[in-house]
Amino acid sequence: MSDSRPDGQLEEMSGITSSNEQATAASSSARMPAVVNLKPRHALPFFKRHPWVFAGAIRTVRGNPQAGDEVVLYSHEGEFIAHGLFNPNSQIRVRLYSWNEQTPIDREFWKARIQSAVQLRASLFGANNDVTAYRLINSEADGLSGLTVDRYDRWLSVQFTSFAIAQRQTQIIELLCEFIQPAGIVLRTEKGTLDAEGLEITDGLLFGEPPPRPLVVVEHGLKWEVDLTEGHKTGGYLDQRDNHRALAQYVKGHRVLDVFCYTGGFGIGALVWGNAAEVLAIDSSEPALATALRNAELNGISGRWRSEKADAFKALESLRDAGEVFDTVVLDPPKLTRTRAALPQAMRAYHSLNRLAVSVLKPGGFLATCCCSGLVSHEDFEQMLADVAIQSGRDIRIVDVRGAAADHPVSPFCPENDYLKYYLCYVA
Ligand code: SAH
Repeated sequence: MSDSRPDGQLEEMSGITSSNEQATAASSSARMPAVVNLKPRHALPFFKRHPWVFAGAIRTVRGNPQAGDEVVLYSHEGEFIAHGLFNPNSQIRVRLYSWNEQTPIDREFWKARIQSAVQLRASLFGANNDVTAYRLINSEADGLSGLTVDRYDRWLSVQFTSFAIAQRQTQIIELLCEFIQPAGIVLRTEKGTLDAEGLEITDGLLFGEPPPRPLVVVEHGLKWEVDLTEGHKTGGYLDQRDNHRALAQYVKGHRVLDVFCYTGGFGIGALVWGNAAEVLAIDSSEPALATALRNAELNGISGRWRSEKADAFKALESLRDAGEVFDTVVLDPPKLTRTRAALPQAMRAYHSLNRLAVSVLKPGGFLATCCCSGLVSHEDFEQMLADVAIQSGRDIRIVDVRGAAADHPVSPFCPENDYLKYYLCYVA
């Protein structure tokens, strides 16, 4: 290792690596990974195990690594930090995986990480058949930045959000088969991976039999139709599973408005577990509402289920103008911002949605309001609720704050991973 180990002082004097040096490093790259050197005073987050090294933190790259190649990250002073995977086409230039100098990112490494993710879910769910759909691998939180795997009964739905992980698809699929023995594995793509990672992939079957359409899974005893081919995300919103049940305990006899209902998680849970009186569900997606109705039928509560295809803002305005009131209102909008620049606009949208929701809520009702934009902090969200309370003249008290279900662990090293917020408010 010693001759590829960067010397920070030397780098500082020599500036960028000469083409001669690069050629030498490239010819030896089969034997040793390329080297990435950070700028002075940029190493702390990575010693503290944040896995994303943005291009702006990097001073030099030596050894001519190609997209997906393993690299070793050093501080400006030449101290080893971590092993990572390189992508010249991504703002996240290096994703870090192993902070142990003796543990490179090889098959054994992937195996150990996947096994650990599988063990965590076995501890959460065991042989319990009450939950048959859950997140098996949660990217950064399972030390596998760029890999998301959800289990839906005997099928797996996989998302690659990093070029390097997608490149190792065969190895990852083999390991998943070794640990899980699924009936089939499907690939679901996220919008934007071409721009973000230079990754061009399309949805499809990666292994085994195609999943039945629809596939029926169980969440705490409730049955859900999921469509692994066309459904949102990898098929459904598994992150809200425990929040569906948490809300249900407060809604007995309530008239519930489930806004952004998708396939009915909150509303159907409220009817079945919570014995709510009735649900009006709103979503702009016709296929989601059709599935929601079938889910209501599957769970025997379709008589108390009503839905409307509409834009949430417009539907809430019409309900308000018609003088309708509800005992409980759920707001679970999609991610409203992906960039910091769009944050103020997103906060205005959260504000108007919540303001509208409060306007159709009876005094002493519950508002279950969610936010899945990772860029919105708890502080931002609570400030928005405070503004809504002041402007609407209603007293808002937060009675329960929750995140994603336990199968979506959060990494203490990568707070960006903690995206989902669920606030239950008592609105006097
Ligand atoms: N509450 C659901 C998940 C909601 S996901 C659950 O717990 O499973 C967000 C939903 O918002 C999607 O179903 C999407 O179709 C819907 N949606 C997006 N924009 C909308 C809009 N302007 N009006 C109404 N629904 C919208």
